[in-house]
Amino acid sequence: MERPIALLPKAHLHLHFTGSMRHSTLVELAARHGVHLPQALAEEWPPHLSAADERGWFRFQRLYDIARSVLREPEDIRRLLREAAEDEAAAGARWLEIQVDPSGYAARFDGLTAALELVLDAARAAERETGVHIGLMVAANRTRHPMDAKALARLARQYADKGVVSFGLNNDERRGRALEFEGAFRIAKRAGLLSAPHGGELQGPRSVRECLDELAADRVGHGVRAVDDPYLVERIATQGVTLEVCPSSNVSLGVVSDVAHVPLRRLFDGGVPIALGADDPLLFGPRLAEQYEIARSVFGFGDTGLAELARMSIRGSGAPEWLRKEMLAGVDEWLSRSPGEPGAREGASGGGTGHSPDSVNAP
Ligand SMILES: [Zn+2]
Repeated sequence: MERPIALLPKAHLHLHFTGSMRHSTLVELAARHGVHLPQALAEEWPPHLSAADERGWFRFQRLYDIARSVLREPEDIRRLLREAAEDEAAAGARWLEIQVDPSGYAARFDGLTAALELVLDAARAAERETGVHIGLMVAANRTRHPMDAKALARLARQYADKGVVSFGLNNDERRGRALEFEGAFRIAKRAGLLSAPHGGELQGPRSVRECLDELAADRVGHGVRAVDDPYLVERIATQGVTLEVCPSSNVSLGVVSDVAHVPLRRLFDGGVPIALGADDPLLFGPRLAEQYEIARSVFGFGDTGLAELARMSIRGSGAPEWLRKEMLAGVDEWLSRSPGEPGAREGASGGGTGHSPDSVNAP
């Protein structure tokens, strides 16, 4: 018998702001603000995507931009974060690190600083309402000029003790190398922010190495292609850099042909710290709990292995020390409870499909 994943305390470290929106909310806000949604975001949702080439990535980005354009009023931003936090609570996340590029909202919400303050304020409100603690990752866009990234890093620095916990770098890896953003990440690291750039998703080991060498990465968004270089895997494990692995995203964007090809098991067995993430559930469908379900059903993680994945997500997070301790204790408690115990199966979704008992040990 298996313990319910929804009761396992965990941290969600890879979720984009617009990409966290509920599809029903997208449809509702689009109607309210008179935004026409293409079929891929309306009747034919979720869209069929592929990022195997730049054209595929462009289409993904275009759909993302349309989705973002339904966020018109401060209340839309508040609603998005409140609902994201509700969904995280349902998945058992006690800490959410959501990433936002304030430049995408600056034009509509009175500039970079005001946009960031609105998001921070909305995050505080969502925390109060749901009990899920929220940290912000300010993320730069690698297809824009490195000077823009520096400006964002300086902005993030101002809010380092006020809700911003990490600094990221996103968008198409083929169109902006990590090393060009060294200056921005230096500013962020000096301010005590975690460095968490995307890398090793669309490009191979070199992209991940640049994140480690040039951006002093504490975490890497995706990083799955590191698996092509055994020495790099060993280095990531030794340095304790967390990879934010997002199985559903990898399948949707064609990074792998099939979910079984996500190198989750190989990275885990290689001792790499892993934090499972949903990336953009608005465009891909599955949310956080489903990523743990995939670990269980596709990769044979028993409850001991799932607990270790949860611990790694917590250790890699920017959550305050007291919360990390509380969450880690919660993981131990989850594991110590017998799966059949009353209350332990609350919210379980069927289960009992006869996977082998824990063959998975901590790395
Ligand atoms: Zn991402």
